[in-house]
Amino acid sequence: MFKPKAIYFEKEIENYPLGKELIDKYKDIPKIEIENHNAIEEMRKKENKEFGNMKRNLIIGVRKTHKFVENHKISDYLVPYTSSGCTASCLYCYLVCNYNKCAYLRLFVNREQMLEKIVKTSLKSDKELTFEIGSNSDLILENTITNNLIWTIENFKNTEKGKLTFPTKFDMVEPILPLEHKGKIIVRMSVNPEEIINRVEFGTSRLQGRIEAINKLKEAGYQIGILIAPVIFVENWKELYLQLIQRLESELSPKVKKTLFFEIIFMTYSYVHIKINQEAFPNAIDLYDKDKMTGRGKGKYWYKNEIRQEGERFFREKMKQYFPNNEIIYIV
Ligand code: SF4
Repeated sequence: MFKPKAIYFEKEIENYPLGKELIDKYKDIPKIEIENHNAIEEMRKKENKEFGNMKRNLIIGVRKTHKFVENHKISDYLVPYTSSGCTASCLYCYLVCNYNKCAYLRLFVNREQMLEKIVKTSLKSDKELTFEIGSNSDLILENTITNNLIWTIENFKNTEKGKLTFPTKFDMVEPILPLEHKGKIIVRMSVNPEEIINRVEFGTSRLQGRIEAINKLKEAGYQIGILIAPVIFVENWKELYLQLIQRLESELSPKVKKTLFFEIIFMTYSYVHIKINQEAFPNAIDLYDKDKMTGRGKGKYWYKNEIRQEGERFFREKMKQYFPNNEIIYIV
């Protein structure tokens, strides 16, 4: 259970039920009032090596921007929802690029307002829309602090139209198993080979737990997808990812395999990651591989074309062999 070192909070949160609840829940934790969760001067000045320590704090505020971004992969819209950032420290975390050092967990207490916008948009549309609510954080993790996922599912289930989806790297799914969700929730579990989880995805759930969570969620009627992501082309990647695919094939329940779909995403990386990781995790594996990666504008890197093509060939071939009846929605 995450116990914050300090709470940084906007005064306004006291006007919201969840804000009051969190202040009370953490009454024994030191608190610092802040003007704006987007600009905490004290945090901005911290050195890169403080990155891990900064993630031990909790920031609580009110979300002010509610702009939906169109998306054409699994969902129709990416929706800013109840949190951003996370307490874990995956070395490649994409939130680090967007927020630099502020990838710590921020909670937003105006959940009623956020869900209402989703419901209204969904009802206005002629088609059945899917909303991605987990692109800025990990909602299974966040739920252990706020119960927001339980609240969301309970308050969304009776909406006439629309679905919600989110990815996760955590296995604490027990609280949502008994909920009535009416098939409106798509959970996408993100997986990587055990060795990569151990060396790169610090603070997340182990592979075994994630596989068990998938089976339990399916048993509880949730729609399930698996993200093999991000694929990291380490020295022995073919061996590691083959073992992962074989393990999924043997440990996922027949019920899961019946309707499961996959997304496969190759890792991208950045100069900001290199700098933070060198100083904050000096003993960790260096994910920047100058022989395999190339620039992608503005301090960003991705794998060279030939590596990505080889990766795509590999995954298409192995997935056809082990999961012939399951769709790969995309490989990027
Ligand atoms: S679990 Fe997700 S949000 Fe958290 S550090 Fe890892 S990649 Fe980032």
